[in-house]
Amino acid sequence: MKLNLCSITIINLFLLLNFSVLCLSQDFDFFYFVQQWPGSYCDTKQHCCYPKTGKPAADFGIHGLWPNYNDGGYPSNCDPDSRFDKSEVSDLIRTMEKEWPTLSCPSNDGIKFWTHEWVKHGTCSESELDQRQYFEAAIALKRKANLLSALTNAGIEPNDEFYKLEEIRDAIKEAIGYTPGIECNVDSLGNSQLYQVYLCVDTSGADFIECPLLPRARCGSSIQFPKF
Ligand code: 5GP
Ligand code: 5GP
Repeated sequence: MKLNLCSITIINLFLLLNFSVLCLSQDFDFFYFVQQWPGSYCDTKQHCCYPKTGKPAADFGIHGLWPNYNDGGYPSNCDPDSRFDKSEVSDLIRTMEKEWPTLSCPSNDGIKFWTHEWVKHGTCSESELDQRQYFEAAIALKRKANLLSALTNAGIEPNDEFYKLEEIRDAIKEAIGYTPGIECNVDSLGNSQLYQVYLCVDTSGADFIECPLLPRARCGSSIQFPKF
């Protein structure tokens, strides 16, 4: 069969299209969905600032949804042309204030935190989720993974008491179905505290998966769950 110039051009365009789809669809392996316990953030920083909307609920808050590689590395700041555009998520802001509150100082409305998370992490999953989908995905994951009820149902309460790392891990695994990564911090008295919980999510941003790799725990054997 003779190929004329036109069909060769079409074949080339087709190959180019497939190649770019391949490039776009392979820029990370999974997400870490990270939630923080506000009491531990405030204890470790020795101070924290409540957002302009007031003291957040005594609940885990979203820290971020972070694209990651299976070898433990991760991409960051992937698209210098993409800024956080509040108008794309204007109807989600109320929910984000509740579920993704900022505790950094000085007190602010959260836009700085969400901008940072979008620019550093969200821009690295743009092949899967646009800005609106990225924030929607994080909110939906928080609703699917209620860490506080997982823990309190197992008798693990934010009451300044100490609990075993395995107890915390098992309670979350029991309720959510997947083994979490637990990150601790150390307060000024030297107590190891429950700071962040990592769950792994597939590249669609919708479903939890077993973690290909758990983050380093840095927890003592006995972990404080501080009041907030
Ligand atoms: P730290 O050094 O306090 O553990 O982390 C500082 C920041 O680096 C985090 O807030 C997050 O933006 C990024 N980071 C730390 N560890 C990981 C990781 O395992 N995966 C990804 N994707 N980002 C991380
Ligand atoms: P990372 O790069 O560690 O994902 O994001 C942490 C950045 O977000 C830091 O610059 C920190 O000051 C800012 N930030 C604002 N609010 C919060 C908060 O409530 N928790 C944490 N961990 N970082 C916050």
